[in-house]
Order: sequence, then C-alpha cells, then structure tokens
Amino acid sequence: MGQPCDYLIVGGGAAGCVVARVLAEHGYRVTIVEAGRTQTPPLRRPADYLRSFGTRDDWAFVTVPQPELAGRRIRQPRGRGPGGSTRINAMIWYPPQATDLRMLAEAGGPDWAPDRLDASLNRVTAWVRPEPPRWLSTASRRFLDLSRPAFHAPHAFARMTDRRGRKTAADLLMDSGSVVWVDGQAERLLVAEASPGEDAVAPRDPLRVTGVEVRQPDNPQPRTILADRGVVLCGGAIGSPTLLLRSGIGPADVLNPCGIVPRVVSEEVGHHLVDHLVMPVIFGIPPRERFPTRFSVRDLARWQVVATGPASSNLAEAGAIYALPPRGDARQDRCRPPAGDDAEQARNQFQVHLTPTHYLLHPADGAPAAMTIGVNLCRPRSRGRLTIRSADPRIPPDIDPRYLTDEADGAGLVAAVGAARELARSEPFAGWVREELLPGAKRPSFERTLQAIRRFSQTLYHPVGTCRMARDGTGVVDAACRVRGTVGLHVIDASVLPDIPSVNPNATVMALAYHAATRMASGSE
Ligand SMILES: Cc1cc2nc3c(=O)[nH]c(=O)nc-3n(C[C@H](O)[C@H](O)[C@H](O)COP(=O)(O)OP(=O)(O)OC[C@H]3O[C@@H](n4cnc5c(N)ncnc54)[C@H](O)[C@@H]3O)c2cc1C
Repeated sequence: MGQPCDYLIVGGGAAGCVVARVLAEHGYRVTIVEAGRTQTPPLRRPADYLRSFGTRDDWAFVTVPQPELAGRRIRQPRGRGPGGSTRINAMIWYPPQATDLRMLAEAGGPDWAPDRLDASLNRVTAWVRPEPPRWLSTASRRFLDLSRPAFHAPHAFARMTDRRGRKTAADLLMDSGSVVWVDGQAERLLVAEASPGEDAVAPRDPLRVTGVEVRQPDNPQPRTILADRGVVLCGGAIGSPTLLLRSGIGPADVLNPCGIVPRVVSEEVGHHLVDHLVMPVIFGIPPRERFPTRFSVRDLARWQVVATGPASSNLAEAGAIYALPPRGDARQDRCRPPAGDDAEQARNQFQVHLTPTHYLLHPADGAPAAMTIGVNLCRPRSRGRLTIRSADPRIPPDIDPRYLTDEADGAGLVAAVGAARELARSEPFAGWVREELLPGAKRPSFERTLQAIRRFSQTLYHPVGTCRMARDGTGVVDAACRVRGTVGLHVIDASVLPDIPSVNPNATVMALAYHAATRMASGSE
C-alpha cells in the first residue's frame, strides 16, 4: 500500500503533468505513477533529441509489419519518465487550428466549444511559455523566404525550450510540492469487489475502479496504490488502451484469446489509431553547410554561454502548411474539399518540416551534407488498431497504424512530394540546393514516387485516437473523459482525440488535458 491520495494518475507525460498540476492547484492530493525513473534528467540540448531513441527514456515500440509500407515495421518511439514524450520529442509548440478545436467540439459538445478550449490553450501556453528558436540553419533561413502561396506561410517553429534547452511537461510541476511521484509500471486497474455480506455487484453495474497494481523496479512484489476519488489514465495513445485491455476493459475478441476475463465490453478500445506518416524529400546542399553530427568546441561554447548555435537547433526548425496541388487523379480528387468544410480542407493539406540534415542518416557520422523537406498529410484517412496478444505486461502491444491503407493517403503524399520538389527548385533554394537524394531524380513518376514512399516514409510520432471521445455513447470515453461502463476512471491524453490534429499535437493534448482536468476538479463534469 502507498500513501493515500485523492487522484492517482497513471503516466506523467504531456497530459499527466497538466492534469496533476490542475488537480494539485485545486487542493487535491495527487500521486503520479510513472514507468520511467523519476530521478534522471532528460537530455536538455535540443539537437540531441534523436539520441534519446532506444535509451531508457524511450519505450522503443515498433509497429507490426505494415503491408502498404513494403512490409516494414516502423519504429514508434514513446517517451518514458517524467514528462513522457516531451522528454524526447522535437519540442515544437504548434497551437491547434480552428479545425482541430471544432473537431473536439463535435465530439464533446457544448463544454468543448472552441472558445472554451481556446481559453484552456491560453492557460497552458502561459505555463509553458514557448520560445522562438535562438538560431536557424541556412537551409531554414532560405525556406522562410519562399514565396509560394501557403495556408500557413513558412515560419520558424515555437518550441518548448528556454535558456537551458528542452522544457518537459514535468517542469510545469516544479512548484507543486503536493504531487508524489512513484516509479513503476501500472500493470492492472484495481476494482471494487463485493465483500462478504454485501450484495454482489450486478453484472450490468458500472465497474468501480479504486486504484492500480504497480510493478516497481527492484521489487518482485507488485504494489497496490489506492485512490480516494479516482484514477486518471494519462499513459498516452499506446499506454492507456493497453492498460484498459490488460484490466479487462475492451473488445471481447481481443481479451478472450489472452485469457483476460472481460469486465467491461468496450468494442472501441484500441480502434481508430491514426498517425502522421512523413515522407522525407532529401536534397544535397553545399558541404560547408553540413549540419554537424558532432559539435565542435566552438559550437559547445556557444551553446553553454549564449544558448545558441547548431546545438540549440531542434532539427525540425521551420515549417509551413500548403494545399495539395491538384493532379486530376481520381484517388486524390476524393480529397477535394467541399467549400467551407474546414475538416475536409485539412484532409487536403500537407505540412512541411524543414530539417537541415539528411533525415534518414543524421546523426550518423557518415551523413552527407543535406537538407530535408519532410511532407505529411495534415489529416490522413487511414485508420489502424492497437491490440494485445498476451495478458503479460512485459509483452508490448501490437501497434498497427495501417498506414496508407486508404488509397487517397498514398496519392496525397505523392502530390506533396511533387510540391516539395517544386519548392526546392524555387528561389532562394534554386542554385543552392544540389541533387535530389530521395526519392531521387530517377523516381519522377507517380508509381516510382509512391514506391519510394512505401520504402522510406516514417512516423512523425503522433499516434492518437485509441480511446476515442464521443458524446453519443459510441466512444471509449464520454465528453467528460470518463470511461464508459466504469466509475472512478478517466482517460485524459492523446488517446481520447477523436481524430488527428492537423498540426503537431502536443499543444492540443496539453490544452485538452487542462480542459478536462479543470472540469473534473471543479465537479462540473
Ligand atoms: C520522438 C517524438 C517527437 C515528437 N515531436 C513532437 C513535436 O515536436 N511537437 C508536438 O506537438 N508533438 C510531438 N510529439 C508528440 C507529442 O510528444 C505527444 O503527442 C504527446 O507527448 C502526447 O502526450 P500524452 O500525455 O498523451 O503521452 P506521453 O507524453 O507519451 O506520456 C505518457 C506517459 O505515460 C507513461 N506510461 C504509459 N503507460 C504507463 C504505465 N502502464 N504505467 C506507468 N506509466 C505509464 C509513459 O512512460 C509516459 O511518461 C513527438 C513525439 C515523439 C515520441
């Protein structure tokens, strides 16, 4: 048994830290169970973030083989430790767009009206205080001068950084003395059982969740932690559905083969997995402009003394949003938006991330001098699923985003690659950019470009949707983020998003967390 608390939060990531701060500010005793070691600091130097992959800060998931990506398993990093994925992410702070706010309003109803959620975003932004970059590469500076018409013109990304470098979501909790961190992986939810003499809990009664069973490092016995008021799952789009499934909340066709007794049959758990798939379009640049894979003494001094120079780069330095160019291709024409429908417009837009490196090879020492125009569809249509194949918490879930299974996504990405090629031919890139390294000049056709996308595209690390919110009773959680069929259990994190935000999702997730937690804390849900 641990210390008593009012709320027990599973997962101290982007959402979990916001929820904890809101609840603590309302005077509740809060405990966070976090699977990563709570004492170790993250890598603060922005340019080092790729070096966190595969370390103990990363769950290092991989997807199941993706048939439309040449059978590849796609690496799916997820942060572990205080701050969650904000320990290892690219730090971009991109506020949700009007279409993203409306998407949540549709799922959540009047309490999630765009102006209300916007107010929550403002509160979280005031906590985070995102900053503009202190340094930009030549490639990014040239990108900012492109004049092609854009939905969002080229701009340097605001970031979750300060003078010390990376700021994680856990940094928001530095003054919250009332939050207790517990090292360990939550393995199962604990539920109230009828005690002798009490009427048995009827099968249709909601399941009352009372706490969690936690496996701690260096302790062979699982530890029980109880919460007086409720348990809030903030384990993210992979962690939260996995814990629900292991606790018997999910579709019977997943639970039964694992020998898990279904306690709440909730068909939607794990469905609607959606992610941004990015295709790197890579160009050679003059060798003197090569982004360092090891920093010189001068670079390190610049970073330490004035927090600038290449070590302060988050690599994904700048970006823009463009409309997909028309191709007259039936598959892509399915993406043409009806006038005025901004959700459909987002389906017909792509985002660019400008990176002053060879996207696939950096930071390997042999990486050539290159820049990457990474393209991804703002709102892909393909939908996947997360399942488990064992009750054993040590066995990772099966993550199946089913990338490009909707044909329009492949066609859209081909069009986006074509647009990236045009950008690289425009002033002020023209004459400065050298040969196209990927997909490469030998792959100009639709088919060859699509083939390259199948072979080389990667996750942009934005999985969402596996515990979808809906107010009409079809989702895993209701509009107050309460898990249907249970009492005392919420999910508040990227998994409840009903669709993928059209931009980098972290700011949306943190705003959503503030919004849901405030309503929970004030009893207005
Ligand atoms: C490499 C990378 C780069 C990214 N770059 C950006 C970017 O630049 N901008 C942007 O907007 N978004 C970015 N993202 C996405 C963004 O970080 C996530 O959308 C956001 O962090 C999701 O927040 P979350 O709270 O849902 O999950 P997370 O932040 O992942 O937090 C989940 C937490 O729960 C813990 N946990 C899970 N299961 C358990 C369990 N059973 N027991 C105990 N603890 C558990 C995890 O260890 C983790 O700490 C990136 C993500 C990654 C991985």
